[in-house]
Amino acid sequence: MKVAVCSTQPYDRESLQAANAAFGQQLVFFEERLSTKTIALFAGYPVLCAFVNDRLDAEVLQALSDQGLRLVALRCAGFNNVDIEATQRLGICVARVPAYSPHSVAEHTLALMLALNRKTHRAYNRIRDGNFSLHGLLGFELRGRTVGIIGTGRIGQAVAEILRGFGCNLLAYDIAQNPACSALGVNYVGLDALYRDSDIITLHCPLNQQTRHLIDAAALARMRRGVMLLNTSRGAVVDTAAVIGALKSGQVGYLGMDVYEQEGDLFFRNLSEQVIQDDIFERLLTFPNVLITGHQGFFTTEALASIAATTLENIRNFEQGGQCQNEVTRALLR
Ligand code: NAD
Repeated sequence: MKVAVCSTQPYDRESLQAANAAFGQQLVFFEERLSTKTIALFAGYPVLCAFVNDRLDAEVLQALSDQGLRLVALRCAGFNNVDIEATQRLGICVARVPAYSPHSVAEHTLALMLALNRKTHRAYNRIRDGNFSLHGLLGFELRGRTVGIIGTGRIGQAVAEILRGFGCNLLAYDIAQNPACSALGVNYVGLDALYRDSDIITLHCPLNQQTRHLIDAAALARMRRGVMLLNTSRGAVVDTAAVIGALKSGQVGYLGMDVYEQEGDLFFRNLSEQVIQDDIFERLLTFPNVLITGHQGFFTTEALASIAATTLENIRNFEQGGQCQNEVTRALLR
């Protein structure tokens, strides 16, 4: 089938082309992101292969449906950027890659946690500057600390498995308990208890109506003073303005984020020659105890190969049966 692939970087093209040797789809690559401004570029394709910051709202979907769009093949797990009501009304199938490598994101979460704790990001710069002082680099042992995991699906479970090895006490909150996590010794509690008792809180829930700004000023005030907060899920689960207030007051002692509410305007591009206009993001960069990565949790060779293969498999399934493998159904919209 003719597939318009949006928001592609060279590494996307490489992994999709390599996997496509076994599928033979007609892939047409675009660097551009899909938005109301770029609809014309993507018109006329029966299949659209989209990524996390492509915006598939009702206006975009209506326009592309009028031009023959039948399948949106997301090459990611989250689908918060797609108006699912609109796709169902228009008869457009949406497929995703529900699991490619939860370990990639889980391990990146640990990388942020360990770097923030031992201040590796600051030590790296100091040593290069000939500054061998240890002042300000004091860390703490993870062993015996309490980590609260919000969302214990595939990634949350992988994080729990790793942290078990570090000797952490594990608390979790989820709307559905995962028996594999309970078997690991994870203790499911309410959000209040998780906020109150956790030294570190890590977010692994999807972005939806219930979780948008789950971490707001009120939630932050209920956490332990000096808490470490990690977000590798979706940016808007955290109210960034509120977290800046909490960083200024010391209520949040460490912030690690791989995702950001307004990341669509920034991430996956080289903007080093430009003046960044996002003052909230720029304020975050001024804190010594904030570590930001640009949505790279998924970015491993294993995950890219798996994403490409599952995406092409989803397209082939649709082509052969008119049905979506890994379809985003109403049941997933909680
Ligand atoms: P998953 O569907 O396996 O798990 C999500 C868990 O969140 C489920 O257990 C679900 O019950 C729980 N949940 C749903 N609503 C909740 C709520 N209101 N409160 C608490 N828990 C709730 O998903 P996953 O594969 O583990 O991925 C988790 C999230 O990580 C994804 O939704 C995506 O947004 C994000 N992600 C980020 C990257 C990255 O590169 N940083 C890569 C992949 C996924």
